[in-house]
Amino acid sequence: MTEFSRRAVLAGAAAAGAGSVLADLRPAFAAAPPKGTQAPGFYRFKLGTYEITAITDGHNSFPLPDKFVVNKQKDEVNAALQAAFLPKDRMTIPYTAVIVNTGSKLIAIDTANGIKEPKATNGKYIANMAAAGIDPKAIDTVIISHYHGDHINGLIGAGNSAAFPNAEVLVGAAEHKYFMDEGEMSRAKGPRMPGVFKNAHRVFKNAEVAKRVKTYDPGKEIAPGITSVATYGHTPGHMSFIVASGNGKLFVQSDVTNHPALFVRNPGWHAFFDQDPKMAETTRRKIYDMLAAERMLMAGYHYPFPAVAHVEKSGDGYREQMVQWSTTL
Ligand SMILES: [Zn+2]
Repeated sequence: MTEFSRRAVLAGAAAAGAGSVLADLRPAFAAAPPKGTQAPGFYRFKLGTYEITAITDGHNSFPLPDKFVVNKQKDEVNAALQAAFLPKDRMTIPYTAVIVNTGSKLIAIDTANGIKEPKATNGKYIANMAAAGIDPKAIDTVIISHYHGDHINGLIGAGNSAAFPNAEVLVGAAEHKYFMDEGEMSRAKGPRMPGVFKNAHRVFKNAEVAKRVKTYDPGKEIAPGITSVATYGHTPGHMSFIVASGNGKLFVQSDVTNHPALFVRNPGWHAFFDQDPKMAETTRRKIYDMLAAERMLMAGYHYPFPAVAHVEKSGDGYREQMVQWSTTL
């Protein structure tokens, strides 16, 4: 049996450096140029008889703002990032949306960033959907969790067309009422909220989107096997979903937390885009207590890909255990 002593490893490295071992083994191929591109980002799994496809749109990466977590100092946020082996002074937020195939219906939950401001690192949702063999024309229903741009902008395709031309678009009644209200819009203050309203109006006043919209309420089966759950706080009408088929249950949390390295470990931390931070925290703790107690599988929109995990209690917060890749369904 080989013993991995430090000396043996160093001796091996020295031999490799001298070329005495590897040179003999290396086949005489020309050097392959690096590909420089990532593999398509979709992950598929079975939930009861349903087939779920998690599709990544990519990520957005930016210098860590001083008040990214409004009730914590930046050095504490940096410590949490580094504890998760993520770079200091930088925030990278991934986006992964799920598509549910019930066997008779194809249902997309949220639509990612779309084509509004294509970036090198995101706007990959439609391309990854194609790689997963799903045609946007085949989507029967789009369910929207809330009215932030990274969830709704993908409703609009090229030339202001509907990106999902044959789909109905289900939106939370409370969320729609709030964000479409001109009075609320005129009272919106600060560096961010006026833009959030303006963008929501841009999307939902688009004629091709508007004619497809139908509202839904919490606590209802809004599509086959998909029940809406009120998870208010992140936005006034923010919604999550339980997808159930056979013995399988998946909690689609939408933005109950943002990146788990910060907000699952520390449910008391308030992300600057939580509109009502106290309500968002109450919701977060309630939902995560439930997920941990019921050992329910969950999909986290801003979790690292494939963004499907179980969660358990850990200290004052929680910890995610990501799913394991499987070559078969
Ligand atoms: Zn989001």
